[in-house]
Amino acid sequence: MSFHLVNGIACNTSFMEMRMVQVRLFTIALLLLLGISWVLAGKAQSPPVNFISKLEGSHKGTRTKDIVQLKQYMEKYGYLHHHHNTDEAGGDVFDDRLEEAVKTFQQFYGLNVTGALDSDTVSLMARPRCGDVDIRTGARENRHPGHAYSLRVVRHYAHFPGKPKWAPNKYHLTYQYAPGTPQLFLDVIPRALGRWASRTPFTFSKASSYESADLRIGVFRGDHGDGSPFDGPKGVTAHAGAPYVGSVHFDADEKFSDGVEPHAFHLETIALHEFGHSLGLLHSSDPTAIMFAYTDHGQKKDVQEDDINGLRNLYGIRMSK
Ligand SMILES: [Zn+2]
Ligand SMILES: [Zn+2]
Repeated sequence: MSFHLVNGIACNTSFMEMRMVQVRLFTIALLLLLGISWVLAGKAQSPPVNFISKLEGSHKGTRTKDIVQLKQYMEKYGYLHHHHNTDEAGGDVFDDRLEEAVKTFQQFYGLNVTGALDSDTVSLMARPRCGDVDIRTGARENRHPGHAYSLRVVRHYAHFPGKPKWAPNKYHLTYQYAPGTPQLFLDVIPRALGRWASRTPFTFSKASSYESADLRIGVFRGDHGDGSPFDGPKGVTAHAGAPYVGSVHFDADEKFSDGVEPHAFHLETIALHEFGHSLGLLHSSDPTAIMFAYTDHGQKKDVQEDDINGLRNLYGIRMSK
């Protein structure tokens, strides 16, 4: 009896232990499942230009669904006309026009003009960048297929098509933030404007209202109503309109920092670039220029001679004070 009792207790104990082990195993399995789904969810939000690295080595004739995204990328930055066949049958083929577009991109950025997605081209395309165009292809759409885009031997500044600029003698611009703009931006934006003010005749002060401001600054996520939705972390970091458009938008899904940090965009650098658009500069092919389109986490830059030359050319005046 006592043996049985002891045995019974022993049995009960091991039963309890087994239950505990089962509960623990179940918990571990649950945590693993949660972990896996978290990783998968994270993967779904991975950088929007991940398709580019998968395309390394592709060239004319390559057919894969990621080609559709490459065409959209080339359209977004002005290398392909928007009537190109991204939605049609054959949209997934690396065709003649895409090869021309890739060559133009390579010429613009001073890469080897191979027309294929070699590693240098892929490395540049995969970097985070400004959402404004590099060039407009419109005028060249009727050109003969295979006719090379004229080489930009000198790599330097550019202006928006039609060279929009602020009115003569309008060198004082007002700015204001959209409601809810984070404190970091309120701290850093005046410094970025101060940098431009120190190198050009332009001066800046706060407008009485957002609507009346020359420069309207906002931090927005995804689709924010101007036809150029942001794309989550990395990819496009910000974009800005030409003079008189005046919009300066930052992607709320990016990590921005005041100082230089390895895993965030240096906000003053990004803001300097965007305000360059506000003054009339488009993208420079000079990698040292603040108007170079690509900027990485932890990268700090200032306004360069190329940027100042671009404004001097646009406004026809001396820029230094
Ligand atoms: Zn830009
Ligand atoms: Zn916007």
